Amino acid sequence: MHDAPGRLVLLGHPLGHTLSPAMQNAALVAAGITLRYEPLDIPRSVLDETIAGLRRQRAAGNVTTPHKVALANACDRLTETAKKVGAVNTFWTAIDGALVGDNTDVGGFDAAVDALLGSHRPRERVAILGAGGAAAAVLHAIERWEGAEVSLYSRTQRRAEELLDRFAVKSTIARDAERAVEEATLVVNATPVGLKDDTVPVSVHALAKDAAVLDLAYRVNETVFVKDARARGHRAQDGLTMLVEQGALAFERWFNTAPDRDAMWNAIRALR
Ligand code: NAP
Repeated sequence: MHDAPGRLVLLGHPLGHTLSPAMQNAALVAAGITLRYEPLDIPRSVLDETIAGLRRQRAAGNVTTPHKVALANACDRLTETAKKVGAVNTFWTAIDGALVGDNTDVGGFDAAVDALLGSHRPRERVAILGAGGAAAAVLHAIERWEGAEVSLYSRTQRRAEELLDRFAVKSTIARDAERAVEEATLVVNATPVGLKDDTVPVSVHALAKDAAVLDLAYRVNETVFVKDARARGHRAQDGLTMLVEQGALAFERWFNTAPDRDAMWNAIRALR
């Protein structure tokens, strides 16, 4: 249990491309809440003192790269989801003053898959490109999918091994991105490739005919990976739905009420 937050922030560094403040502030206005969501672009060197100040202010908020793991370590309590993922993207201050960490990227990913495919399909063969925090959230979501199998490619193989050891999913490590996707029914880009330029994490020519693509990266006018995949007839979507859904789930944690998702989407579209 917790009271309404005294302050609402986004912690990250750098925060250059973030759409979250516009999206969350639109949800706050729509809900008639006077609090505003503030970006706090802070390096790791001042994270601890920032967290101490946020505790005193009974703050809540979101956390993004590169502070998600550090925040998990700083929290007094973690939800089961945050413990399993090992990273926090949403936090609040409980009535007893404890800092509580959660991870709504998991639910955000699940909702994005539903939006892309209609529903979860049994025995999905999922290719995951990348082995960082987003890949961990994806794997935790997939743990609950009936009969799912994962083929994961990470340019740093050790990270792939360590990550897959933590999740109860039938999985293999692929030697390259092409092999990871060749039999996949769903391809998930969990790397930042394509976020800031026109690069792609794997050529769409390597995709199986009926594969769907979920790129967790997003940028103005979509990523090239999504555009290329759609041009070849694949169902494809960028990371915006996941962004909105993880943000909506965070809003529910802070205020115990669902936000106006249309207001959130309108705020994002106005920036694109
Ligand atoms: P992270 O923890 O830093 O992990 C990044 C992963 O991508 C690592 O496995 C890294 O490999 C790999 N990688 C980085 N640059 C690469 C390159 N040039 N080629 C191949 N692999 C590369 O980051 P994250 O938090 O998992 O985020 C990953 C992506 O997901 C980002 O684009 C982020 O914006 C997106 N994301 C989106 C949402 C959403 O709501 N849409 C939510 C969370 C994350 P190494 O270990 O070898 O460096």
